[in-house]
Amino acid sequence: MKELLPKQAQDYMERARHVADTAVRPVAAELDRTGDYPWSVIEALREADLMGIWIPEEYGGKGAGVLDLCIVVEELSKACGGIGVSYAVNALGSFPIIVGGTDDQKQKWLPPVASGEKLIAFGLSEKASGSDAGSLRTRAERDGDEYVINGNKKWNTNGNAASFYTVYCSTRPDRGHRGISAIMVEKGTSGFEIGKREKLMGIRCVPVHELHFDNCRVPAENLLGNEGQGFGNAMKTLDRARPGVAAQAVGLAQGALDWAVRYTSERQQFGQSVLSFQATQFKVADLATEIEAARQMVWTAARAIDAGIGNTTKFAAMAKVFATDVAMRVTTEAVQMFGGYGYCTDYPIEKYMRDAKITQIYEGANEIQRLVIGRALTKEAAKATGHLDVKVEHFEEEEASEEVPVGA
Ligand SMILES: Cc1cc2nc3c(=O)[nH]c(=O)nc-3n(C[C@H](O)[C@H](O)[C@H](O)COP(=O)(O)OP(=O)(O)OC[C@H]3O[C@@H](n4cnc5c(N)ncnc54)[C@H](O)[C@@H]3O)c2cc1C
Repeated sequence: MKELLPKQAQDYMERARHVADTAVRPVAAELDRTGDYPWSVIEALREADLMGIWIPEEYGGKGAGVLDLCIVVEELSKACGGIGVSYAVNALGSFPIIVGGTDDQKQKWLPPVASGEKLIAFGLSEKASGSDAGSLRTRAERDGDEYVINGNKKWNTNGNAASFYTVYCSTRPDRGHRGISAIMVEKGTSGFEIGKREKLMGIRCVPVHELHFDNCRVPAENLLGNEGQGFGNAMKTLDRARPGVAAQAVGLAQGALDWAVRYTSERQQFGQSVLSFQATQFKVADLATEIEAARQMVWTAARAIDAGIGNTTKFAAMAKVFATDVAMRVTTEAVQMFGGYGYCTDYPIEKYMRDAKITQIYEGANEIQRLVIGRALTKEAAKATGHLDVKVEHFEEEEASEEVPVGA
């Protein structure tokens, strides 16, 4: 129901759809095969004035919101999930500066990203610390006017394509996650090497690399905020970015369903189209309904963030969990609806399923999102008053009857 969106968001949707149809669909399969970076699409996005739209106007962006970002990501991902994330990761990489940088830092790093002249990446995860990001080991030590960085990052999306990297390092290992700091590093800095490229199941046009830091010296002014504020910066960033992953998932789900409906409307078995069987009708009806529900959750979470409503963490996590689980279900069912052809690369459908899987894993695996939602509910329950303000009875262990079956 795009008519319910603000005019600006509808305009972004139309422009992104045009880029998806004219610049993404023609190259998606080929880039999936070759793993080449979608530079032609970045150029088309620049021409359509869609790069860096989420960056405030005073730093060269369009001052667009998370809702607008989600809308562009959904449209691109309908055509190719890899290209969707190659775009969205620039928001993930620049949010740390937007939420934690000084005016000088914003002036320095954001305008080239806003114009699409430079790409940016987000370096939090390490080999031994993914979900438990607070245990990261990359070290940054202050030495005069510089930080000296040593350590390694894993799974850096946009890896060698980016020029700027937000790198989370420990400046005080004795303080655990409270000793983490966010530091900007430029490609080409001595002691900073782009390492191994990962071989991925899906989103294959996006380079995901290890990053290596060996006595890498960067100016102390590259520190975002104060020392020790890095973990909070990363969490705030992820809260803003997660609706984008959810939008990628909605796009993948919608793109796969569009293909499945079209295919089954033409595929004839038992003298009629596969789509005309009631079993297929019910299936596509359920999948379309789930996609629409996911989309509404994404838009609601995004609008809440844009409106500056506090405590949107739970809603961003819910949108991410729901939309990415829907994407996995829809893309798997879509392959099934293509039958044997779905398992072959003749049609783009198996790529949707491969691309969708990562959305359940990155920017906080869905198990972690469920923990986030559960913790939020626990806090809300502790604060609940009024009709919920009843005393719950507790029974001593010896009072429990042994005859009561487990789970009753
Ligand atoms: C293609 C790709 C791109 C990525 N891009 C980036 C990027 O640009 N920047 C970046 O910083 N990171 C990136 N990542 C890393 C990604 O965010 C992590 O892979 C993810 O957070 C999970 O961490 P992990 O792989 O170490 O899994 P682990 O943390 O080892 O988890 C393994 C499994 O255990 C589950 N689990 C862990 N803890 C709990 C718990 N407490 N309760 C229940 N279950 C639990 C997890 O959900 C998961 O299913 C990327 C990863 C991939 C694969």
